[in-house]
Amino acid sequence: MSQTSRLAADADHFDTDVLIVGAGPTGLTLASALAARGVRATVIDRLAEGANSSRAAVVHARTLEVLEPLGVAPTLVECGLQVQRFTIRDRDRVLVPIAFDKLPTAFPYTLMVSQAVTEQVLLERLVALGGQVLRPRQLVDLAQDASGATATLDDGSLLRARYVVGADGMHSTVRERAGIAFPGSSYGESFVLADVRLTGAVSAAEVILYFSPAGLVVVAPLPGGVHRIVATVTDAPEQLNDAYVQALLDARGPQRERATVHEVLWGSRFRVEHRIADTYRAGRVLLAGDAAHVHSPAGGQGMNAGILDAMRLSGALIKALAGEVAALDSYGNERRPVAQQVVALADRLTRLATVRPGLRALRNVLLSTLSLLPLFRRNLAWRLSGLVYR
Ligand SMILES: Cc1cc2nc3c(=O)[nH]c(=O)nc-3n(C[C@H](O)[C@H](O)[C@H](O)COP(=O)(O)OP(=O)(O)OC[C@H]3O[C@@H](n4cnc5c(N)ncnc54)[C@H](O)[C@@H]3O)c2cc1C
Repeated sequence: MSQTSRLAADADHFDTDVLIVGAGPTGLTLASALAARGVRATVIDRLAEGANSSRAAVVHARTLEVLEPLGVAPTLVECGLQVQRFTIRDRDRVLVPIAFDKLPTAFPYTLMVSQAVTEQVLLERLVALGGQVLRPRQLVDLAQDASGATATLDDGSLLRARYVVGADGMHSTVRERAGIAFPGSSYGESFVLADVRLTGAVSAAEVILYFSPAGLVVVAPLPGGVHRIVATVTDAPEQLNDAYVQALLDARGPQRERATVHEVLWGSRFRVEHRIADTYRAGRVLLAGDAAHVHSPAGGQGMNAGILDAMRLSGALIKALAGEVAALDSYGNERRPVAQQVVALADRLTRLATVRPGLRALRNVLLSTLSLLPLFRRNLAWRLSGLVYR
C-alpha cells in the first residue's frame, strides 16, 4: 500500500496524541508536562544531540513557580546562582535599583543558570517520566485534515498525531507549513554574548544593565565565578576575544573602577528580530516559544516566555484531547498578548538604553525620579520576574 493510500485508509490511526517538533526548553517542558499527566506525546528534534551552549542564562521567579508541579524547580535552583538585585546604571550612576528579595514568591530572586543546564534538567525529568526525544528527526512537511495532522520526516517516514506543536524555534517549519505569518522586523544592531572571567568592579550578587550612547551592556553573574556579558553592537566580529569584550566594558560599563576581562569562555553573536505569530493556532497545529515570538534579549524574557507557553499549552491540550477544543483558542488568546508585552518591555529597555546624547541627561533624571517611587520599582520587579503574568 502506498503511503497516501495507507493514510487514506488509516485516517483514524494515530502514532501519538501530540507530536512536539523541537526539543529546546519549550518542547522539553511541554513533553514533560504532558508525560506527567499521562498523555502520549512524541518529541522529535533535527539535531543529533542537544545544543550545549550557554545562550539564555536567566530563569525568572514566575518560571520556577510554573515548573513546580514538574518537580524540576529544586534541581534548577541547586544548579543556579540566586541573584536578588538588578540595577540599571549610566556608567557608575545607579538610575534604577530593583530588589527581588521582597517579592511574594517561593523564589524571591533571579536564577542565573545556563540554558544548556536548564535543558539537561528538563530532559532528565522527561526521561524519568518515561519520555524520550527522537533524534535526529527533522520535520520537512505537514498536512492536516479534520481528525489529525500528518508530519513527513526527512527520512520519508510519516507520523500521524491528533495535534502538532511547533516548538521548533524562530525559523519554524511547522509555522511556515501551517501558513501562519510571523510579522515584525529586525533591529539594526546585533547582540554579542560572552561568558567571561572578570575581576575588578563586578558583583556576584547583582545583574547590571548599563545604558550607554554606544549601546547597552549587561553584566550578570553566572555560577562558577563566571560573568555573562550581553551587548548591542552595529557589527559583531565572528570571533570574540578578550580585547573586544574589554573595549565594550571600558566604553559602556563601570568607570571609577575597571572591570578587567581575563578569559572569554564562550561567545556568540546574533541578529535580533522582534516578531509575533499572527495566531498561535491553525486547526490542529499550535505554536509555542520562539516559533511564536522572538525579541531582544534585554530583560532576559525569551526562554522564560517559551516555558510559560509550554506549561499553559499542556493544560489546553489535555482539555482538547478530552473534547474541549475551545481550550486551544484560550491558550493563544492568553499567551499572545503576553508575548506582545514581553516584546514591548524588551523594546523599551533597548531604546531607553541607546537614547541620543542630547536626551541622555533628561532620561537619567526621569528614571532616577521615577525610581524613587516604590510603585515604579515594584512594577518593574513584577514585570521582570514574570510575576505580573500570574
Ligand atoms: C546565541 C543565543 C543567545 C541567546 N541568549 C539569550 C539570552 O541571553 N536570554 C534569553 O532570554 N534568550 C536568549 N536566547 C534565546 C533563547 O535561546 C530562546 O528564546 C530559547 O532557546 C527558545 O526556546 P525554544 O525551545 O522555543 O526554541 P529553540 O531553543 O530554538 O529550540 C528549537 C528546537 O527545534 C529544533 N528544530 C528546528 N526545526 C526543526 C524541524 N524542522 N524538525 C525537528 N526539529 C527542529 C531545533 O534543533 C531546536 O532544538 C539566545 C539564543 C541564542 C541563539
